[in-house]
Amino acid sequence: AFGADAVPQAAEDPLFGLMAAYRKDEDPKKVDLGIGAYRDNNAKPWVLPVVKQADELLRKDPNLNHEYLPIAGLPDFTSASQKLILGEDSPAIADKRAVSFQTISGTGAVHLGALFLAKFYNPPVSEAKTVHVSSPTWANHNQIFSNVQLPMKNYPYFSRETCSLDFDGMISSIQSAPTGSIILLHACAHNPTGVDPTQDQWKKIAEVMKEKHHFPFFDTAYQGFASGSLSKDGWAIRYFVEQGFELVIAQSYAKNFGLYGERAGCFHFVTSPSSIAQDTIARVGSQLAILQRSEISNPPAYGARIASMVLNDEKLFAQWEEDLRTMSGRIMEMRKALRSKLEEMGTPGTWNHITDQIGMFSFTGLNEEQVQKMKEKFHVYMTKNGRISMAGLNTNNVDYFAESMDSVVR
Ligand code: PMP
Repeated sequence: AFGADAVPQAAEDPLFGLMAAYRKDEDPKKVDLGIGAYRDNNAKPWVLPVVKQADELLRKDPNLNHEYLPIAGLPDFTSASQKLILGEDSPAIADKRAVSFQTISGTGAVHLGALFLAKFYNPPVSEAKTVHVSSPTWANHNQIFSNVQLPMKNYPYFSRETCSLDFDGMISSIQSAPTGSIILLHACAHNPTGVDPTQDQWKKIAEVMKEKHHFPFFDTAYQGFASGSLSKDGWAIRYFVEQGFELVIAQSYAKNFGLYGERAGCFHFVTSPSSIAQDTIARVGSQLAILQRSEISNPPAYGARIASMVLNDEKLFAQWEEDLRTMSGRIMEMRKALRSKLEEMGTPGTWNHITDQIGMFSFTGLNEEQVQKMKEKFHVYMTKNGRISMAGLNTNNVDYFAESMDSVVR
C-alpha cells in the first residue's frame, strides 16, 4: 500500500498564502507589495503595448496552428534568446559554443539546469558538487536544487546593517568553497534584496571563480526590467563569457515581457573556448533533449511565439525597449518618492538603500515584527523578511505606505 496516511502536511507557499490573505482583506486602503509582478500606477496588471501588438499579428496569421513545438522549443525563439542575453556578436554564438532549450519560464530553466548538473556535473572533488546560493536567495532555488538532490550551501550576500552587499563575506566564502563548486549568481536585480554587485565587484568575483575553477550558474529574470537597458542588465553574463567561463544561464521572460502565466523561458549551456572536444555542444544538447522529453516533452508555444516575434523584428524590438523603460522608470520614480517621503518625515534610520537597490524588489530593513504590524494595523502586505515589490507602489499609495512604515519603526 502507498501509506498515504503518513504523508506529512507541507507548509503553504508563503508568497501565495500572502496573496490569498490580501484578497480576503476588505479594507479599501490595503496595499499588496508581496508578489513580484509589475503593476501600473493604478495597481493594475499591465499588458505591454508591444505584447498587444504581437498578439494581434499572431492571431491574424492564417497558418497558426496548435501543433507540438520541437523538443528544444521554437528555434527562432531560442536563437533570439541567445543573442539577447549573450549579445549579438558574442564569441560564444560565433563559435557555436552555446546550446539553448526553451523552458517553462525561468523556473523551468533553473530546473533543467539543476537536473543536468545533478546528472552530469563532474568536479575534481566530490564535495564540489554543491550549489552555493546567496543568503538570502529566491526561495524557490532551495526547493528546485534539493528536488534533484544537489547539496546546497549559502554564501553571505546581504548586510543587515547597511542594507547593501556584503562583498567581503561573499568573496571569502566563494574563495573557500571546494575547487570546482557550482556558484549560483543573479545576473541583475537580485531577488529578494534588490542589491547587485558593481561592475568592479563582478570582475573580482569572476577572478576568484576562475582561480578556483568554479562553475557559474546564472539566473536572469529581470534583463531590461532592472535598469531599462538590456545590455546593462546583461553585462555580468557577457563579461563571464568573455573571460572564457563554461557556464549555464536560466532566462525568464515573465517580468520583462509581462508574460508571467505564459511560461516563456530559455536554458543556455555555453562551453569554454578552450574546450577540447569539438562535439561537446552536440553531446550536451542530446542529453538535455532526453531530460526535456521525459519531463515536459516539449515546451508551450504561445508565450514563446510572442516573445520571438518581438525579438526578431526591429520595430517591435524598439517598442519593447520603450516598454521596458516605462516599467523600470516607474519603479525608479517610486523608489525616489518613498525615500524622500521617509526622509521628509524624519523616519528613524537611513533610507539611501531604497534608491541604491534596483529592480522589482527592495529589502526595506523592516523586521518580522514590524512586517506583522504593517499587515495588522495598516493592511500592507509584504513578505516576512521585509521585502517589498516596488511595483505595488504608485502615486496613490506611496505616501500612505511611507507613513505606515514611519509608524512601525518609531
Ligand atoms: N529566478 C528569480 C531570481 C526570480 O526572481 C524569478 C521570478 N520570480 C525566476 C527565477 C523565475 O520565475 P518564472 O518561472 O516566473 O520565470
